[in-house]
Amino acid sequence: MHEMAIAEGILDIALEEARKNGATRIAKVGLLIGEMAGVEASSLEFCFHALVKGTIAEGAELALARTPIVARCLDCGREDTVERYNFICPDCGGVRSLLSGRELRVEYLEMD
Ligand SMILES: [Zn+2]
Repeated sequence: MHEMAIAEGILDIALEEARKNGATRIAKVGLLIGEMAGVEASSLEFCFHALVKGTIAEGAELALARTPIVARCLDCGREDTVERYNFICPDCGGVRSLLSGRELRVEYLEMD
């Protein structure tokens, strides 16, 4: 499962950060997920909570923040959020190139 691999990556990052900071418990993991990252939030949460059992992140909250898809028109330079995956510029009909929306990263950690 795609989300399981992502959850493993997130846990690795969290545990590594905790180790560096000498933390003994991870309380919360803040994640940033682009609308186009192709991640199903409920599935990711399920995998994460299954993986953390027996680690210092057991019981940690997974806080998900979604970032919108933003694109810039290659012709007129208009920057805007993209609705319904429409990558045609509403102003000039030019093709828009993706600026953000595919990101998937750990934004912050709360540790003790
Ligand atoms: Zn345009």
